[in-house]
Amino acid sequence: MTHSSHFIMPEQEALADQAYRFFHDAFFDMNAEMDDTDDLPASVFPTLGKMGYLGLNVPTQYGGAGLDFTSACVITEELSRVSAAIGLTHVAHDNLCVNNIYRNASEEMRQKYLPGLCDGSLIGALGLTEPGAGSDALGSMKTTARKDGDDYVLNGTKIFITNGPIADIVLVYAKTSPEKGAKGITAFIVETTTPGFKVAQKLNKMGFRGSPTGELVFDECRVPAKNIVGKLDGGVAVTMSGLDLERAIVCFNATGISRRALEISIDYAKTRQQFKQPIASFQMVQAMLADMYTEIEVARTLAFRTAAMCEGLEEGEGGRGEIHKLTAAAIFKAAAATSFVLDKAVQIHGGSGYMRDTEVNRLFRTGRVLEVGAGTQEVRKLIIASELLKN
Ligand SMILES: Cc1cc2nc3c(=O)[nH]c(=O)nc-3n(C[C@H](O)[C@H](O)[C@H](O)COP(=O)(O)OP(=O)(O)OC[C@H]3O[C@@H](n4cnc5c(N)ncnc54)[C@H](O)[C@@H]3O)c2cc1C
Repeated sequence: MTHSSHFIMPEQEALADQAYRFFHDAFFDMNAEMDDTDDLPASVFPTLGKMGYLGLNVPTQYGGAGLDFTSACVITEELSRVSAAIGLTHVAHDNLCVNNIYRNASEEMRQKYLPGLCDGSLIGALGLTEPGAGSDALGSMKTTARKDGDDYVLNGTKIFITNGPIADIVLVYAKTSPEKGAKGITAFIVETTTPGFKVAQKLNKMGFRGSPTGELVFDECRVPAKNIVGKLDGGVAVTMSGLDLERAIVCFNATGISRRALEISIDYAKTRQQFKQPIASFQMVQAMLADMYTEIEVARTLAFRTAAMCEGLEEGEGGRGEIHKLTAAAIFKAAAATSFVLDKAVQIHGGSGYMRDTEVNRLFRTGRVLEVGAGTQEVRKLIIASELLKN
């Protein structure tokens, strides 16, 4: 067994073991080259699709795996433990794009796009953030969608979009009624072959290299009205509900990375000799390992409790109340724990941890952004406090 927890059922534990073995065989050896080139090998999505790891929460009738939310979290954790970059790319596709389409799109759109997104022939992304709209993504959004006959015409720029440079389908947020502010936003499915869509640049990142991140431009990009996801001017509900699930599942990208950092730190501590003994024999090194383990378990425990609360979240639910507060708290803790664990992991590895080509160095460069993406640590605290102070 890779782990045991009373938060997950024996069949989910079996799923985790199977997923870990499969991911390790298929992807682990790709990590170093992905870190060098920042490219995702073309085989990754078809391989994930063939093995049934795409559309984790999408019912089987659309080609998905039909799993519950906690099972998707468990798989996300094992994938991130094997390859943080593939884990991020997978979650952006599967949760941010695919699950949002499944939960909010019309039956016609579900049938048109979900089978390809679930077999790995189509890659998905979600475009919310803009150069001038990060933490204030909704209020400061400048991208517009102007109605023209049966179409909407999109204009604007999205930045830091995971899978943006390789996506076939982008779930894009745009203002359909700019005068209504955040209440005038709508979500659209955009095929990236549409004239007027352009990848302006692939961004050069510090970590998560191999998970391509890009700047996307929409210049008179014409999309049929039937590609609206959710209600016209109802984008806020789609985003906020989706963001709660995103925060809950991204906790497991974090715990997957930190579990791997602990594993390699234990191995290193047992094998590295100084003063004629393994460094694991020194109590100060033991203390670091104990602190790392404890932080991971605290984060995982909260993450599993949060995942259980997300089970069966209805369309349009979330984005407020208990679930909003708890998902923000869970990702806040998971991200902080990951930064702590990665810092200690580098310390245990000594000078070798500072060398760019080591696995611990790759993880250290990668994990930091978990305090920024899906809402920063500060925004997470704002959410928690505003829920605590309501009424
Ligand atoms: C690798 C990566 C992948 C990403 N993937 C995606 C994606 O797939 N799709 C997508 O749409 N976006 C994506 N993002 C964007 C991400 O969600 C944003 O970077 C994040 O929301 C923060 O926005 P910002 O970078 O503009 O920072 P800013 O909002 O400019 O924040 C800068 C600093 O100011 C602080 N701050 C801002 N407002 C407040 C406030 N009110 N109170 C206190 N402090 C405040 C922030 O906490 C932060 O410390 C990704 C980002 C990265 C780095």
